[in-house]
Amino acid sequence: MNTGKENEFAVETRGLSKIYGGKAAVRDLNLRVGEGQIYGFIGRNGAGKSTTLKMISGLASPTRGEVRLFGKPISDPAVRRRLGVLVEAAGLYPNMTARQNVVMKARCMGLADEKSVDRVLELTGLTDTGKKQAKHFSMGMKQRLGVALALLGNPDLLILDEPINGLDPEGIKELRQLVLGLQEEGKTILLSSHILGELSKIATNYGIIKDGQLMEQITRGELEEKCQDYFQVEVADVRRALPLIQESFPGIQAEVSDTRIIRIYGTMEGADLNRKLAENQVPVYASGFHHMDLEEYFLERMGEEV
Ligand code: ATP
Repeated sequence: MNTGKENEFAVETRGLSKIYGGKAAVRDLNLRVGEGQIYGFIGRNGAGKSTTLKMISGLASPTRGEVRLFGKPISDPAVRRRLGVLVEAAGLYPNMTARQNVVMKARCMGLADEKSVDRVLELTGLTDTGKKQAKHFSMGMKQRLGVALALLGNPDLLILDEPINGLDPEGIKELRQLVLGLQEEGKTILLSSHILGELSKIATNYGIIKDGQLMEQITRGELEEKCQDYFQVEVADVRRALPLIQESFPGIQAEVSDTRIIRIYGTMEGADLNRKLAENQVPVYASGFHHMDLEEYFLERMGEEV
């Protein structure tokens, strides 16, 4: 069916930049989040994640560039109503219960019905917290309450900055289930993190930011393809070794990853390869099977030592 919305993204930034005191915190960012995605926004501390998410949420104004949500500029009030945000401390009232916190925010938003309060408490698993005050909540519960507040008004797009930060394993699990449940409801979720392993359990898409610039946008499928097992061989002479490997093992795919290193994808016996190279007087310094996991891939892309 042609809905005329094929080119519409839940979030699209065009040349988005933010300069603080002459230094670019975010530079020329063209980020695209499709509807229904769980988009993991990854970068080291100070890479520019929070600044980007604040601009996307309308909490900071870009120095240059623009933000569009569902095809419309962020300045459009109708589109802002489709957005729920948890980017800074959730602003909980510590002496109030979960319900009181939600009711307070609902009133501020002009949402009079109890139903929306019940709904967000239920979605975030906070219905049965009774008289317990927010100050006695675990980090995980506080984070879920923050999400509950962001969910008031039933937004289509949820932006969460570092929601996993500071959570214990149980809290992380709860948040993961919550995010997956929200996606099932048809919501789009854009969340940042530097805890890569956790993010990889839920994200359908990734954006990698480094020094304020978007290094790469990649789908989960593309990432899994790039993280295949491979056999790595370190040789004295890559120029001699590479054609020899390609000729001897036609079913495989070989690529040079460093001046001395060749990575081989596909099925073959490591011992056969080593023997072949030795027979042809190509010294082998080291070899072995290797599995690149998501974390390693991201660290490589972010320019860290692996
Ligand atoms: P973190 O996870 O540590 O928050 P981040 O990826 O979210 O990192 P940002 O907080 O967006 O990064 O910061 C990006 C850069 O912009 C940093 O160098 C930071 O010092 C700078 N910066 C952020 N906010 C301001 C501000 N209000 N004034 C001046 N510089 C700022």
